[in-house]
Amino acid sequence: MKELEERIRTDGRVLGKDVLKVDSFLNHQVDPMLMERMGEEFYKHFKDSGINKILTVESSGIAPAVMTGLKFQVPVVFARKHKSVTLSDDLYTSEVYSFTKKTSNHISIAKKYLSSDDKVLIIDDFLANGQAVNGLNTIIEAAGANLAGIGIVIEKSFQKGRQMIDKSGTPIYSLAKIKAFENGQVVFEEEDD
Ligand code: 5GP
Repeated sequence: MKELEERIRTDGRVLGKDVLKVDSFLNHQVDPMLMERMGEEFYKHFKDSGINKILTVESSGIAPAVMTGLKFQVPVVFARKHKSVTLSDDLYTSEVYSFTKKTSNHISIAKKYLSSDDKVLIIDDFLANGQAVNGLNTIIEAAGANLAGIGIVIEKSFQKGRQMIDKSGTPIYSLAKIKAFENGQVVFEEEDD
């Protein structure tokens, strides 16, 4: 998505060797007009997949996920993060190692919001090593739901997540794909559609 790539070029800041800061439109201040156009892009890509639910993780996945849900006209569920979780019969939980915070969190979704009737599209802000997607997938499997696809706003293709998802065979669509960070600059993969 050219508009997103341009926004990353103008507003993004590379931190260290593998972190991109995009606080001005995605991770702190949110640009709702851009979010809406991203929702439209995900919708165009996945509209024939029979999706009836969008899943994400709080907090930065929520804005793009809600806009995508609006386009699909389906509910959006965000997994909640907890340092530790008091076991509850009413929750599906899994453990996720946070790439940016370098700690493990439990994420959970109430059982009443996910079932074997659901065909799910995961939406998240970033793909790095695929831990967040894995954690959500564990929950989807526990619920007997179906994972139809994964939509990522910013994929860092040089990290492990992309390969892992490709191996699993789940359809994935990323709006911006970063090939590398070079001298503090973002290098994008060529767009493939
Ligand atoms: P993964 O679980 O794929 O290793 O990492 C994805 C999660 O970590 C995303 O939900 C996102 O919150 C965070 N994340 C990973 N890489 C970055 C990054 O470069 N910048 C920001 N702001 N968040 C990131």
